[in-house]
Amino acid sequence: MEKIRGLKPLYSSLLQGVGNTPLVRLNHLSEELGCEIYGKVEAFNPSGSIKDRVVNYIINKAEIEGKLKPGMTIVDATSGNTGLSIALVALIKGYKCILTIKDNSAPAKIEQLQLYGARVIKCPADAKPDDPLSYYSMAQKIVNDNPNTFFLNQNHNENHFLAHFNSTGNELWQQTQGQITHFFASASTGGTVSGTGAFLKAQNSKIKVICADSKGSVLKPYHEEGIYLKDLKKATSLEGVGKDIIPSVFRKDIIDECMEIDNDASIQNAKDLLVQEGIFAGGSSGAAIDALKLYIKKYPHDKIGMAVLSFPDHGIKYMGKIYKSDAPAEDAADFFK
Ligand code: PMP
Repeated sequence: MEKIRGLKPLYSSLLQGVGNTPLVRLNHLSEELGCEIYGKVEAFNPSGSIKDRVVNYIINKAEIEGKLKPGMTIVDATSGNTGLSIALVALIKGYKCILTIKDNSAPAKIEQLQLYGARVIKCPADAKPDDPLSYYSMAQKIVNDNPNTFFLNQNHNENHFLAHFNSTGNELWQQTQGQITHFFASASTGGTVSGTGAFLKAQNSKIKVICADSKGSVLKPYHEEGIYLKDLKKATSLEGVGKDIIPSVFRKDIIDECMEIDNDASIQNAKDLLVQEGIFAGGSSGAAIDALKLYIKKYPHDKIGMAVLSFPDHGIKYMGKIYKSDAPAEDAADFFK
């Protein structure tokens, strides 16, 4: 078939829509906190989250390096968004995929993965990382037992770090024309905060890189004391904030500060973001806002010239979990009464 050529807005596949997301001034929050604050709205990616950048980059690299070949199955342990990106890239490129997921993930996320054609294995959320039934162990076992698989391994894949370095970091530097002074992002694998932060610091070492972590996560103690407190229990219910292992993509040397966010305040921030700025984002976006507020309280004399907050995904994924509207719609017959 002859292809149509030369028309700029045409994508040859949806994957060309990965990245180049809008950077939006948060008008209310900037007024409220008295500094310039911008949100990087990653819901504009094709599967609705920042993870499209990561998965697209890792899979392209794996194909070039000959580690991923036609007919293979992509496997990973994922709390949801990475899985959706894997499922999308796999379907577009013709791979199969198997995803291990925690059984407390939002039901809509699981259904969505299946609609994209992924095989989803639910694993007990309370299993310790080294438990054979944990989602980490299950992914590893599936890969070990099946030679025709490619382990995406988002927690420990160097190309995950490089994806954010080359994509998110570079893009932010261009979009802010080098004026960014502070970068805030929720950390789970820590890939976003580390890779983006590393690129920004390589351009200007004075830029501060701050991550939002949750109560009970192992990341903050590791960042501050270099220790892995295996027995901590991840207390958050916010997807995408906090971790129970130390991923090697979490680079503590790049991160200036880990702020322990408050769940309820983060959820309220996300709700405010919707009604004040019109940005419908997940709870981890609210956590980045909480980290900013806590940072300003802790360092009132650190001048924020331009803060950028990562908003990793769309709020629609959390309907019924974070977002609810109890008000019934009004009946037409009652409207003019
Ligand atoms: N927010 C959401 C909604 C996520 O899905 C994730 C990743 N699981 C994050 C934040 C954290 O991103 P990262 O893994 O790059 O630290």
